Amino acid sequence: MLEHLTTIVVHTRREESEPCPLDLRNPNHDNGRTELEPFDAWREHILAMKFRIGSIPVQVQPSFFVASAMLGWRGETADVAIWVAVCFVSILVHEMGHALVIARFGGTPRVLLYPGGGLTYGDKSKTPGRRILVSLAGPGAGFVFAGVVFALARLHPLHGMQQTVYGDLMWVNMSWGLFNLVPMLPLDGGNMFESLIALR
Ligand SMILES: [Zn+2]
Repeated sequence: MLEHLTTIVVHTRREESEPCPLDLRNPNHDNGRTELEPFDAWREHILAMKFRIGSIPVQVQPSFFVASAMLGWRGETADVAIWVAVCFVSILVHEMGHALVIARFGGTPRVLLYPGGGLTYGDKSKTPGRRILVSLAGPGAGFVFAGVVFALARLHPLHGMQQTVYGDLMWVNMSWGLFNLVPMLPLDGGNMFESLIALR
């Protein structure tokens, strides 16, 4: 479901002619106004959920939370809330993995969370080797995160809701990473497979 590389290609090409709607620095972003009215700023940045992690712009579509809740519906409100929070954090970690490597290779990463998962734009990597590393970084970040959670859970016995959080974190990070490594476009694995063929 993650189409970051396919979409990167599309958006990298698109950037040449039109600005990306995710670019918070784009002066045309708000009809040419550079200063937002307080209400507009609230609407733009809270309702549309735009923020930055370091220098990387992140946008979260509200429908991301609706789709996550539907996927993890278990009757208990607290369990659903934990599931949605875990999906948000885990998919953000996955996309930040891509984004940090894209930035390392001179790209300008931007992250979007939408009902289908996450997308990271702005890759400018030209070599298959770099594109493989960008693709690997998403699942890799999730696996490292799951490893840290696993290690922390060994240090502290878990009770009640902590066990729910732990179980959800392990499940989402491992399954999302493995699913994305399936060698099929537009998944990360498909992009890696395509780059591997280009390497030969
Ligand atoms: Zn990915």
